[in-house]
Amino acid sequence: MREKIVAGNWKMNLTFEEGQKLTSEIVQMFRDENPAGVKLVLNPPFPHLYPVKKLIGDTANVFLGAQNCYDKASGAYTGEVPAAMLRSFGASFVILGHSERRAYFGEDSAFLLAKTKQALAAGLRPIFCCGEPLEIREADTHVAFVVKQLEETVFQLSAEEFAQVVIAYEPIWAIGTGKTASAEQAQEMHAALRAEIAKAQGQAAADACPILYGGSCNAENASSIFAKADVDGGLIGGASLKSRDFIAIAKSF
Ligand code: PEP
Repeated sequence: MREKIVAGNWKMNLTFEEGQKLTSEIVQMFRDENPAGVKLVLNPPFPHLYPVKKLIGDTANVFLGAQNCYDKASGAYTGEVPAAMLRSFGASFVILGHSERRAYFGEDSAFLLAKTKQALAAGLRPIFCCGEPLEIREADTHVAFVVKQLEETVFQLSAEEFAQVVIAYEPIWAIGTGKTASAEQAQEMHAALRAEIAKAQGQAAADACPILYGGSCNAENASSIFAKADVDGGLIGGASLKSRDFIAIAKSF
């Protein structure tokens, strides 16, 4: 049985008070409604991390994640945050390779691999994002495009390192657009990625690796997407900012 994970990416949203309210509601609903066997990960912006962790407390199966980390361990890098610091503040996961970071901050595969290694060395599990733009999907070269993103990054890791990785397939044309991939499109890609993981890291690694879907996933469409054999949960943007919707997604397996 693979892990089931629903991770919320708050992106650059919410004041302190809003973040506290959202977290309190999510934690309370998760405790009350106890979606069986699901791991929930909250990935707020950096200033929220510690107060959100305080609210999560010792709630079983609710984890803290960050949205980014740097590729150096410490030092004179003004404005950056290293993985070990995130870990020391209670984070367990970090989102890396998000298409917004690739597009707006020019993050390439070499940089992402270095960040991934820093995260793993610090004891953080990367939620490693991959996904194709619309023109690649329309040219029907999406599988090769996404496989290359993984070959240049997480497939370079040792078996021990790769065992900590969560992959998030996020077609760029579906992120924040309200246009979700169909369950069949998600399954096609997830199955292809799992087959490539088997080639690169072995069948046991492929069988164990959680592959999340991301891109306009919401309380209405999550159950049809999560029902697919190779979809192990979701990375949720907009809908993770609404407690009721986020918990409904976590109950969609
Ligand atoms: C994301 O940014 O990771 C994401 C999936 O966003 P949304 O759910 O809003 O499309």
